[in-house]
Amino acid sequence: MAHINDNFLKLKAGYLFPEIARRVQAFAQTNPDAQIIRLGIGDVTEPLPQAVVQAMHAAVDEMGKRESFHGYGPEQGYLWLREKIAEHDFQARGCEIEADEIIISDGSKCDTGNILDIFGPDNTIAVTDPVYPVYVDTNVMAGHTGPANDDGEFEGLIYLPATAENDFTPEIPKQRVDIVYLCYPNNPTGTVASRETLTRWVEYARVNNSIIFFDAAYEAYITNPDIPHSIFEIPGAREVAIEFRSFSKIAGFTGVRCACVVIPKTLRAKSNSGEDISISRLWMRRHTTKFNGVSYITQRGAEAVYTPDGQAQVHGLVAFYLENARIIREGLTEIGLEVYGGVNAPYVWVKTPGNVRSWDFFDQMLSQTHIVSTPGSGFGAAGEGYFRLSAFNTRENVEEAVRRLRKGLRV
Ligand SMILES: *Cc1c(COP(=O)(O)O)cnc(C)c1O
Repeated sequence: MAHINDNFLKLKAGYLFPEIARRVQAFAQTNPDAQIIRLGIGDVTEPLPQAVVQAMHAAVDEMGKRESFHGYGPEQGYLWLREKIAEHDFQARGCEIEADEIIISDGSKCDTGNILDIFGPDNTIAVTDPVYPVYVDTNVMAGHTGPANDDGEFEGLIYLPATAENDFTPEIPKQRVDIVYLCYPNNPTGTVASRETLTRWVEYARVNNSIIFFDAAYEAYITNPDIPHSIFEIPGAREVAIEFRSFSKIAGFTGVRCACVVIPKTLRAKSNSGEDISISRLWMRRHTTKFNGVSYITQRGAEAVYTPDGQAQVHGLVAFYLENARIIREGLTEIGLEVYGGVNAPYVWVKTPGNVRSWDFFDQMLSQTHIVSTPGSGFGAAGEGYFRLSAFNTRENVEEAVRRLRKGLRV
C-alpha cells in the first residue's frame, strides 16, 4: 500500500472554522428563527471596485478575439502588473524594490505555505501567538514540528505570546531563530507594529542571519501615518526579509485571487555545503515549475487598482470597513469590554469578561445575541480569554450586531 505524509495526522482534527460552522449550524437548527450575524470568518462582503470590473470585462473581450487572445502568461506575472506594484506599493514609500523582485501568485495563503518548499527541514521557526493558523499548519505538514500538546502548541515551534500585557508586541526571542513569521497589521489581534519594533526585528534578523516572513495582507488598513506599510521601509530589511502582499483585503479579491511575494535579490541563505544561495532564484525556480500563472483577466483587474479611479475606489472600500470596525470597537467599549485593534485593521480583538474561556464566551454570545465571533484560543494558546470580531460585513449587520450586544450581552 502507498504511504501518506504522516505529518498531516498531527494536525488537530477540530480545525477552528469547521468547528465554528458546526456550532452555528447546531444552534440554527434548534433556533430556526434566530437572525444570525456572522462576524467570525474574515472574508470581505463588498463587491469589486468598478475600475476592476471594467478592466476585467475589457480583458474578457480581448480573450474572445483571435488578435488579442492570451494563452499562458509568464508564470511570475505580467511585467506591467509587477511594475505597478513596485512603483505604487514600494518605491512611492521609499522602498528599494524593483519589478523583478515581485512574483505574482493566486494568493498569500498559498504563498505563505508554499515558501517552505525552498527552505530546509532543520530551521528553527518562530511564530507569534495568537497567529494566522496557516503558518503553523504548513510547518506541521512539512514535518518541521513534533506533535501538539493539550494547548495545541506544536513541539519544536517557538511561540512568541502577544497579549495585552506586552501591548501585542511579542518580545524578541533571546535565542536565535532561522525564520520568524510576522503579520502586521495583525490577524487576529488587529494591532500594528511601530517602526521601532520592526527596526528591532530587522536588527535581530541581521545579527542572527534570520529571515523574516512579513505578511502585509492588511497594510491598506493602516491609518496612522507613522506605521510602516512594508518591512522594506526599514533600512537593512533587503538582506533579511520576504514580504507577502495580497489584493484580497484591499480590493475585495478573496474570490478573484491575486497576490504577490516580494523577495529582494539581496536575500540569501545557506546550502548544506555552506554556499550562499539566492532565495529569489530558488523561489522563481519553484514557482515557474509548480505554477502556471494567474489569469490574464485577473491580472488586468489587479492592475486597475492602481488607476486613479481604482485607487479612489479601494480607499473607499477600506474606509467603509474601518468605519465598521470603529462602530464595533466603540460599541463594545461602551458595554465595558476591553477592546484592542480595529483602528489600523479590520479586526477587533476583545478580552472576554471575567476571564471566561474563549469557546464558552463564543457559545454565550451566540445564544444571547445570535452573533458569531471567532474564539481567540483558535488562533493559539495565548489567544485564550479573547475573541475576534471581523469588520467585514454590511453596515446594517454591524449596527444591528452592536445594538444586540448593548441590549443582550450580559457581561
Ligand atoms: C486574508 C489573509 C491573507 C490573504 O490571503 P489570500 O490567499 O491572498 O486571499 C494573508 N494573510 C493573512 C493573515 C490573512 O488574514
